[in-house]
Amino acid sequence: MATSNDYSFSLTLPAWAINENKNLKPTYETIEDRMREVLRFARRNTEEQTGGPFAAGVFELDTGRPVVIGVNRVIPHLCSSAHAEIVALSLAQKQLQTFDLGAPNVPAHQLVVNWRPCAMCYGATIWSGITSLVIAGAGCKVEDITGFDEGPLRDNWQEELEQRGISVTVGVCHEEALAGLRYFANSGAPVYNARQGPS
Ligand SMILES: [Zn+2]
Repeated sequence: MATSNDYSFSLTLPAWAINENKNLKPTYETIEDRMREVLRFARRNTEEQTGGPFAAGVFELDTGRPVVIGVNRVIPHLCSSAHAEIVALSLAQKQLQTFDLGAPNVPAHQLVVNWRPCAMCYGATIWSGITSLVIAGAGCKVEDITGFDEGPLRDNWQEELEQRGISVTVGVCHEEALAGLRYFANSGAPVYNARQGPS
């Protein structure tokens, strides 16, 4: 019989990531600084076997103050939506006590991710209220290297974001991000696509 516990769910960061979040620098001035920290979390998530090779950070756009850096938690939480972007945006909204990271009384926020958001996270990015998206790369390399299915996105995804007031910066620390994805691919860690992805 189901208990009331069966009608709620939560996503948590692994212990190492909670600790790393507590020790983040007060500010990360450049987008390269922000991306390198996100890439460090993504690689550590593979090393620690606490989720997929993805991390996402929410920063104050102008000051570079980190709100939180999240990591992918699909397998540990048995939750297909526990992508790094969802985890980071949700934790940031909880910490800042707002569902809108672009609310009038809230400083502008930036989402930094080690690859282009998948179909789901693309929507989550729009709904989050952030005004800037920074990614290390876009396109099929993540699928070629890791086998993860990123889902369908229209060719004009970037223009759609810009029209909604979200600036997009692509290619920050590109090679370092690819190295992290290759590290995951060579680790033998499982790829968790539903029904084992498109075939
Ligand atoms: Zn995603």
